[in-house]
Amino acid sequence: MSELKTLYQDLILDHNKNPRNFKKLTNANRHAEGYNPLCGDQYTIYVQVENDIIREVGFEGSGCAISKASASVMSSLLKGKTIAEAEELITLFQKLVTGTADPMEEIDRVGKLAAFAGVSEFPARVKCASLAWHTLRAALEDKEQVVSTEV
Ligand code: ZN
Repeated sequence: MSELKTLYQDLILDHNKNPRNFKKLTNANRHAEGYNPLCGDQYTIYVQVENDIIREVGFEGSGCAISKASASVMSSLLKGKTIAEAEELITLFQKLVTGTADPMEEIDRVGKLAAFAGVSEFPARVKCASLAWHTLRAALEDKEQVVSTEV
């Protein structure tokens, strides 16, 4: 697990400092807004979908290092995935951050994403990590409402 912890710290630092796809997608045909009032994380996720394939993902907004790194890693993993594959990844990510999936068992399938399992030790940060993913799901389902981690 200590290797995973190092990977986690490196990943958060790297993606927070240099977030990937941190831009509004002008050609997006799906988007959704997400908000985590407990931490103040707020992002808009943009997706360009063509024939059921995710062509591009972008995001903008602001929040803590974990929420930003999570959105950044997510955006870099989704290109070329089908919507069904993306949905699968959303579900798996949720299991990793809540500690219900074993990251070492899933590492071949999810790669760097496994590092986010480290968040499961800090319940208050689980919402930070999963905000972008909830928002992505809403974008793929074409929901107009703002996604909030608090209902
Ligand atoms: Zn946060």
